[in-house]
Amino acid sequence: MKILANDGIDPAGKKMLEDAGFFVDTNNIPQDELPVKLQEYDAITVRSATKVRQALIDACPNLKVIGRGGVGMDNIDVDYARQKGLGVYNTPASSSLSVAELVFAHLFTGIRFLYDSNRKMPVEGNTRFNELKKAYAKGIELRGRTLGILGFGRIGREVAKLAIGIGMDVLAYDLYPFDPQLELTLGGGIKVNATVKTATIDEVISQSDFITLHTPFIYKPICGTAEFEKVKKGVGIINCSRGGLIDEAALIDALNSGKVAFAGLDVYDNEPTPREDLLKHPKVSLTPHIGAATNEAQERIGTELASLIIDHFKK
Ligand code: NAD
Repeated sequence: MKILANDGIDPAGKKMLEDAGFFVDTNNIPQDELPVKLQEYDAITVRSATKVRQALIDACPNLKVIGRGGVGMDNIDVDYARQKGLGVYNTPASSSLSVAELVFAHLFTGIRFLYDSNRKMPVEGNTRFNELKKAYAKGIELRGRTLGILGFGRIGREVAKLAIGIGMDVLAYDLYPFDPQLELTLGGGIKVNATVKTATIDEVISQSDFITLHTPFIYKPICGTAEFEKVKKGVGIINCSRGGLIDEAALIDALNSGKVAFAGLDVYDNEPTPREDLLKHPKVSLTPHIGAATNEAQERIGTELASLIIDHFKK
């Protein structure tokens, strides 16, 4: 069995597949050459770069499995592939903690103005040190403040655990009923049970000190002008979920008016060319869609994908 890991696979996942007797090719084949070259393989694994559309599936009758390292399968014609009998797998839980930790990286950045300090210290740090010190003097603490979570799935739940762990109150909203109980694993393996407060979307929007988004993309922004009117003045907003969940123009207005104190963004409309006025906005902490990009998450993704492929061919 030959597997093409076209967008790469963590060495631990590759080893598992090789130990199980598969040949794993990690050389990237350009998209336009795949219809011919993929015919030699039994399975392909991708991340978000390689597209596996209907025409490619039709061109490769030997293909039996498509694996997506990560969550979203927008780059794969999943229904079509399954109709044709292919196994299509992703690894939805592997990166949840990494994304949740990035949310807190943006939150801690926001409450102590690091997004601005990191830009200004290199250019003004040795000429205007005292002015900058004064400018960043009114930081706040997260403990005791309320974090509103919109979308209480895998990542929303991990975010809630971290929030509770540092003493925040959590208000959680999801489109569907959910279990508000969480089991936290503290240092030393100590387990603690906690319960989050469930809330309506309006309560989350209007009562939170910080709001973080964890729904899938839902065709219209979940935070737009109407929502920014209802938020507490000085709220911080984090989006490590999907571009399009925040109306970016409305966010810029809300940042300029002071209604929103800061935003932390990992995802954008128009990736990979987000709008420049957002990228250059002085109240925004920015990362380039790196939520799942930790060594730990990539190893979990690689090994989970390897197990799914091995199980598929053992059936
Ligand atoms: P999940 O499916 O476990 O959870 C999503 C939750 O959102 C579900 O509980 C669902 O019921 C809820 N939901 C759906 N529509 C809703 C709505 N209109 N209002 C409120 N809740 C709604 O997914 P997850 O693994 O937690 O991932 C969440 C998001 O994070 C996804 O969009 C995913 O693509 C994104 N993500 C981003 C990165 C990154 O690199 N930044 C990495 C992984 C995942």
